[in-house]
Amino acid sequence: MSITSFHPPVRTLMGPGPSDVNPRILEAISRPTIGHLDPAFVTMMDELKELLRYAFQTANPLTMPVSAPGSAGMETCFVNLVQPGDKVVVCVNGVFGGRMKENVERCGGTAILVEDAWGTAVDPDKVEVALKSSPDARILAFVHAETSTGAISDAKTLAEIARRHDCLTIVDTVTSLAGSPLSVDEWGLDAVYSGSQKCLSCVPGLSPVTFNQRALDVITTRRERVQSWFMDLNLVLGYWGGGGKRSYHHTAPVNTLYALHEALVILKEEGIENSWARHRKNHEALKAGIEAMGLEFVVPEGQRLPQLNAVSVPAGVDEAAVRSMLLTEYNLEIGAGLGAAMAGKIWRIGLMGYASNRTNVLFCLGALDAVLAGLKAPIHAGVAVEAARAVYAGKS
Ligand code: PLP
Repeated sequence: MSITSFHPPVRTLMGPGPSDVNPRILEAISRPTIGHLDPAFVTMMDELKELLRYAFQTANPLTMPVSAPGSAGMETCFVNLVQPGDKVVVCVNGVFGGRMKENVERCGGTAILVEDAWGTAVDPDKVEVALKSSPDARILAFVHAETSTGAISDAKTLAEIARRHDCLTIVDTVTSLAGSPLSVDEWGLDAVYSGSQKCLSCVPGLSPVTFNQRALDVITTRRERVQSWFMDLNLVLGYWGGGGKRSYHHTAPVNTLYALHEALVILKEEGIENSWARHRKNHEALKAGIEAMGLEFVVPEGQRLPQLNAVSVPAGVDEAAVRSMLLTEYNLEIGAGLGAAMAGKIWRIGLMGYASNRTNVLFCLGALDAVLAGLKAPIHAGVAVEAARAVYAGKS
């Protein structure tokens, strides 16, 4: 077998991420590599931090991208803030809350679970009860936008409850950043992580994080050393910290950081509120088409993420066959269900970042309609695209 250059097929990415990458970002990543301590690069890093503050809506000096995917941002928060013996209240309403629990336990902490049905938001009343009955809990951890189910939780209210109980918050915003309203400072979120590959439409592999002073105080006065050398923020700050001279910690993924810089410039040009509104509008149009077909959303109205639409598979339909036909016949990727409760039962249609646009909405509805009608699925065929067009025309 002779192996030659890899040329991926051109797809439309409408799954749970990565989302379609803006061509401007693909061009940025191909610019010449320079040293990660080069003065020109250091200037770019400062701009990157400033742009990330805008995306997170924060003034936190400690705002930077971790050089690894969203899971590493998650781990950075937990390994730096959780010490052996700590009690952490963890909200679990999908796959990623479950991963938070795992992180707490691997740090030697005890996770106290607040569980909600998959496909629903975290219930603030249950969190209140859990924090009341565990007055020694130090941290509340929750996922703002649960990608496995498409449910959004009320981060502002959850953070208020945590503060009243003298707890820090660790908040997963991997899918919410730039797609749904998120205001780190106004809501008083303490340690927040995200990902590059969802509503920022950047390439995967970076995890923006931000920590406020309350979180930083805990990190810098730990009883024990952080067990991860790579993620110990006390060391990482030698490279990313503001002001002083930058020292080598690890070789930064130079070109990937160009890509994130470009993604954030694009976000700034659009305006964060406009980005949130665009995600909402395209969701409304997709929803009109999905419901016109007779398909149902998994998440109740009012708790739905605009950028991640979880749709129940109609009875008798082979969900994997549908995804496979969309991929091979339309070069269109939509996502499968994730986790035992959802696998085989739902599709996850992403409308994230660059992929959240009218063309994609109409294309996806048309393709899904044709494939399902071809399989003789129990849907109302031929009406979905028109229902979505009516939303864009302001007629519904
Ligand atoms: N948290 C949430 C809510 C996610 O959706 C994801 C990825 O899909 C992650 C964490 C992990 O991010 P990554 O896959 O980039 O490591």
